[in-house]
Amino acid sequence: TFTPLTSDFYGFAADLSEAEQASLAEIRAFMDDEVRPVIDEHWHADAFPMQLIPGIAALGVVGPGWAESARFENSAVYRGWVALEMSRIDASVSTFVGVQNGLVAGSIGVCGSAEQRAEWLPRLADCSVVGAFGLTEPLSGSDAAQGLRTTARRDGDEWVIDGAKRWIGNATHADVVVVWAKDTEDGQVKGFIVPTDSPGFTATKIERKISLRMVQNADIVLDGVRVPESMRLQGAASFRDTARVLRLTRAEVAWSAVGVMIGAYEAAVRYTTEREQFGKPLAGHQLVQDLLAKSLGHITASIALCVQVSRMLDEGRQEDAHSALAKAYATTRMREVVSWCREVCGGNGIVTDYDVARFFADAEALYTYEGTAQMNALIVGRAISGTSAFA
Ligand code: FAD
Repeated sequence: TFTPLTSDFYGFAADLSEAEQASLAEIRAFMDDEVRPVIDEHWHADAFPMQLIPGIAALGVVGPGWAESARFENSAVYRGWVALEMSRIDASVSTFVGVQNGLVAGSIGVCGSAEQRAEWLPRLADCSVVGAFGLTEPLSGSDAAQGLRTTARRDGDEWVIDGAKRWIGNATHADVVVVWAKDTEDGQVKGFIVPTDSPGFTATKIERKISLRMVQNADIVLDGVRVPESMRLQGAASFRDTARVLRLTRAEVAWSAVGVMIGAYEAAVRYTTEREQFGKPLAGHQLVQDLLAKSLGHITASIALCVQVSRMLDEGRQEDAHSALAKAYATTRMREVVSWCREVCGGNGIVTDYDVARFFADAEALYTYEGTAQMNALIVGRAISGTSAFA
């Protein structure tokens, strides 16, 4: 049975259906029983717990938004809570799902033909195919649309892809990568499903990260990689279509940021109610209470924002700027919350034994990926002013 989180202070989860709540209870049990015990060791080893992938797939958290892979009727708000529940225990595991579900299944769900959706979505859902999403390049991050240098040249029934990608999550162990490349003919960005065993494809792990250490990010080189026309996403005609995928995933990153805030907050409450200084628990001191209350305020405001941006998706009125605002706002609030929660744990707040340090470190990646907080603010600024500050 589903128990509302005490950090869901205004009780937003009460609006979820019974089936949605039952699913979240199952996800929470898996995160507590299977993930929590192995995180610390894998985080320090810079390794993803591959043994968890079948269990993750069994939860139905990959592809719940698509008819081809959904297990039961569900709302975008539920799918946001899934990201929150997973991130509340570990942001690397939720990022693995964010890539597999949001970015990869999302690209195929949004931009794939009916045949491509039928072929790939069920296999992504059961993780018999693991995917990665290759947009960012060594020389273009925020400038992913105009600055994209990877090219795709049509050659008969095939495409020849040349270029490089950087930061690509899951790519060291993925079976396929959705690669975004510029068509040499019309200059538009298009999407391709590229098997990682293709001749000319190499992925090299990025070492020594200080954030999301469990996620396996890679530098990719594509040297004359050939894929058939059937592997080109048939509904991706320009970067506008890539942006349709990112609109969905940015809202889910906002939900993940709330999960990270809650994970850090719960660790801080646990610690400050147990440890005493000056003859009473840390949480009994006024200045500590102020930081905990401000954290709960940020969490509560961010849940409200996320619930509404997801409702807008279900109602068909979510636009790019709506999800960009949610991503920019929630990740910025997250950075404040993790630093306050780390602070109230004192010295023990900088060792991962007390959990809060891991959330503090992992928050930096969420703040940066899927468009930095600044770039998402500029998308909102464009909607406010009618003028793009970045194009
Ligand atoms: P830059 O674009 O070089 O930006 C550096 C700084 O300058 C930022 O603060 C940025 O906000 C600021 N800046 C840039 N332009 C402007 C401007 N016009 N106005 C104001 N400020 C500006 N990418 C993928 O394709 N697939 C993945 O799976 C993936 N996973 C990732 C996982 C991790 C852990 C990380 C760290 C990144 C991942 N990324 C992935 C890449 C991520 O999306 C980029 O890092 C991000 O978009 C920022 O690009 P950049 O790192 O090149 O920074």
